[in-house]
Amino acid sequence: MPEKQLSDEVLKEYESILLEEKRITLEVISDIGLAQKKGSKDGTGDLSSYSIHLADQGTDTIEMEKNAYLGEEQLKKLRAINFSLRKIYEKTFGICEICGIFIPNERLRIIPYARFCVDCEAKEQKNKKR
Ligand SMILES: [Zn+2]
Repeated sequence: MPEKQLSDEVLKEYESILLEEKRITLEVISDIGLAQKKGSKDGTGDLSSYSIHLADQGTDTIEMEKNAYLGEEQLKKLRAINFSLRKIYEKTFGICEICGIFIPNERLRIIPYARFCVDCEAKEQKNKKR
């Protein structure tokens, strides 16, 4: 077996990547929150903008549903990021939670909050579909 954990240097690097990712995700979440608030205000009868909005009422609903979905996705991502940060502090970051191998660097560069290696991720996705 090779080394069991990433070096402190590499962990530090991923920590800053994850913190940046977390900052962006929180921003997106608050943006979506604002959009939703605005949407519901229009719905309760802001008459000045009502006539303009009447035509897009359908799109507004779709827009809100999309935001709700996006919000859900972002919250999931945020949880994954927080989880990964904890793993950095526990020095178990970068290890697949299922089979225990190191997740390749190329994968972590794209998805720094990945919990599984590519093989296990594929298996997980399949299990979820069933
Ligand atoms: Zn794995």
